[in-house]
Amino acid sequence: MLAVLAHPDDESFGPGGTLAKYAQSGVNVHIAIATDGAAGSIAEGHDVAREELAYVRDGELQAAVKILGGQLHRLGYRDSGMKGDQSNQHPDAFINGEKREAVRKVVKLIRQNQTQVVLTHDETGGYFHPDHIRCWDITTAAFHAAGDPDQFTELELPPFQPHKLYYTAIPKSRIDWFVKIQRLLGRDPQKLGRNQDIDLTKLGIPDERIHAHINIRPTWEIKRQASAEHKTQGGGGAFFRFLPNWVNKRLFGQETFMRAQPIAVDGYRESDLFS
Ligand SMILES: [Zn+2]
Repeated sequence: MLAVLAHPDDESFGPGGTLAKYAQSGVNVHIAIATDGAAGSIAEGHDVAREELAYVRDGELQAAVKILGGQLHRLGYRDSGMKGDQSNQHPDAFINGEKREAVRKVVKLIRQNQTQVVLTHDETGGYFHPDHIRCWDITTAAFHAAGDPDQFTELELPPFQPHKLYYTAIPKSRIDWFVKIQRLLGRDPQKLGRNQDIDLTKLGIPDERIHAHINIRPTWEIKRQASAEHKTQGGGGAFFRFLPNWVNKRLFGQETFMRAQPIAVDGYRESDLFS
């Protein structure tokens, strides 16, 4: 299994429970992180200089992946910021890199490891982060190119076609629920995040397009511990900290995915990415 994700923390805050579940069951789980997280936020109380952030986050990432049980790979790009952010102008930013080169890196991992199941962000990037969308773009291209003997011959690796491609996706129904919670807390769900540029009401994937529901309650604790390693990123802000752990476990006990390949019809449901 290969997960291609944008930032150090996406592997834990995102499909961490699923990655841990398959690692536990003996699957070789490869986690490729595209960027260094240099444009990320720094959680309150952390005395980390902006220039050190990428270095510190790499240490957090290594610790988290060790807990999840995967093998870590880095695509080696600089973090891009949200749309309009200054970091997007940087020549080394992931979104400014040559697309073919990025696709080649993912094809190489697929061919080297004979990956059966590929996982990445969906076409909205979850919340329209350019790096997430870029991951979707290059990984989808790599999924199709890896099995083509005429593409990327310079890698000198035999072609290998993975069986399945999944996109991480949050169902609209769950987003609607978060919107209600935010309003109850007196926050504006249309102005969330550090720069107040996340409009929660615009996020989420229609429920009928969510094809895979993975029960992560057995690996919930592993996900929580891996997330906690990302201290500069708040250590798992995806959970509601004002709620007791058992409530969070009930609320977030499932990770959900769209199946892009083989194409699945609306309403199709499965509970195992290897079925
Ligand atoms: Zn991210």
